[in-house]
Amino acid sequence: MTEPTSTRPAVLAVMNLPPFYPGPLREQFTVYERLHETNPEEFARVAPTIRGVTGGGESNVPRALMDKLPALEIVSIMGVGYDKVDVPAAIERKVPVTHTPGVLDDEVADLAIALMLSVARRVPQADRYVKEGLWATKGNMPFARKMSGARLGIVGLGRIGKAIAQRAAAFGMSIAYTGRTERKELPYPYHPNAKALAEAVDFLVVITPGGEGTRKMIDREVLAALGPRGYLINVARGTVVDEQALIEALQQNVIAGAGLDVFENEPNVPQALRELDNVVLTPHMASATHETRQAMADWRWPTCWNTSPAAR
Ligand code: NDP
Repeated sequence: MTEPTSTRPAVLAVMNLPPFYPGPLREQFTVYERLHETNPEEFARVAPTIRGVTGGGESNVPRALMDKLPALEIVSIMGVGYDKVDVPAAIERKVPVTHTPGVLDDEVADLAIALMLSVARRVPQADRYVKEGLWATKGNMPFARKMSGARLGIVGLGRIGKAIAQRAAAFGMSIAYTGRTERKELPYPYHPNAKALAEAVDFLVVITPGGEGTRKMIDREVLAALGPRGYLINVARGTVVDEQALIEALQQNVIAGAGLDVFENEPNVPQALRELDNVVLTPHMASATHETRQAMADWRWPTCWNTSPAAR
C-alpha cells in the first residue's frame, strides 16, 4: 500500500535512477534525486529529514555528506562493492551500509567471458571488418588466438570469480587463482600474489573489490609477468589496475591485449587507451541487463531497515 507523502521516509538518491526504479521507490519514500548536487540550498533545507541514501556501486557517499544528514539510518547501494562509501564514518554513526551481492554473479561472469573471447578472437575488429567492406577488398582477416583450453588466472575467487571459473571450465580452460587467503576447499591451484599468478596463465581476470586494499594491484610488474601472449581482463574496478602502466604495456606489446569494463576515472577513458587496437572496452556494464538490474533493485532495501517511526 502506498503511504501518504507526509509519512514516507525521505531518501537521497546519489545516482541517476535507472528507468524502472523511481516509480516503486516513490511509492514508499520521498525521493530527492541528486538534490545535493542540483540544488544545494534546497538540499540544506531537507537534509535533516533524510533517513536513507541510495546509490550505485560507483556512488560517492563521503563523510562530508553523512555529516549533513543527522537522521541518516541506512546507505543502500544497488551494486556490489561500496568502495566509495566512507564505511568508517557510517560505522561511527551506527548506519548500516548494504549492497546487492549474489544476484549479478552470472551477468558479470558472462561479460568476463565475452571480453575474453572478444579480445582473443578479435570479435569487434571482425565485425568492423565485415561492415566496412574490407572482407571483399582485403580478403580474410589475420588469424586470432584460441581461448578454449588456455590457462585462466582469477584474481579474487569470490562469488563472481567462481561463476567465471565455472564457465571457463566449460571451455576446457585450466583455472588458478590468487586472493588474500588460500581456499583449501577449492579444487584450483593457489598463487600467493597477482604476479605469481600472471606468470602461470594466459588470461588474467581481475574480480576483486576496489578501494585501498587493491589499489593498483595490477601494476607494471604483474603486466610484465603476464607477458606478450597474455591478456588482462578487468571487470572489477578501475582502481585495481595501474591504468597508465597498462596503456604502456599495451602500446609496447608487453601483453597481448586487454578487455576492460571498468576504468580509473569513469566515464572518462584516456584517449591513448581508446586508440589501441588490442583492447576491447565496455562502459561499466557488466550487470546492465533488464533482468539483473531489476533483480538488484527488487532486493536493495533490505529487511535490516525498519522504516516505521516506532523503530527509531
Ligand atoms: P566477493 O566478496 O565474493 O569476492 C571478492 C574476492 O576478492 C574474494 O575472493 C576475496 O578473497 C578477493 N579479495 C578481496 N580483497 C583482496 C585483496 N586485497 N587482494 C586480493 N584479493 C582480494 O565479491 P563478488 O565476487 O561478489 O564481487 C567482486 C567485485 O566485483 C566487487 O567488489 C566489485 O568490485 C566487482 N563488480 C563489478 C561489476 C561490474 O559492473 N563490472 C559488477 C559487480 C561487481 P580474499 O578475501 O581471500 O582475499
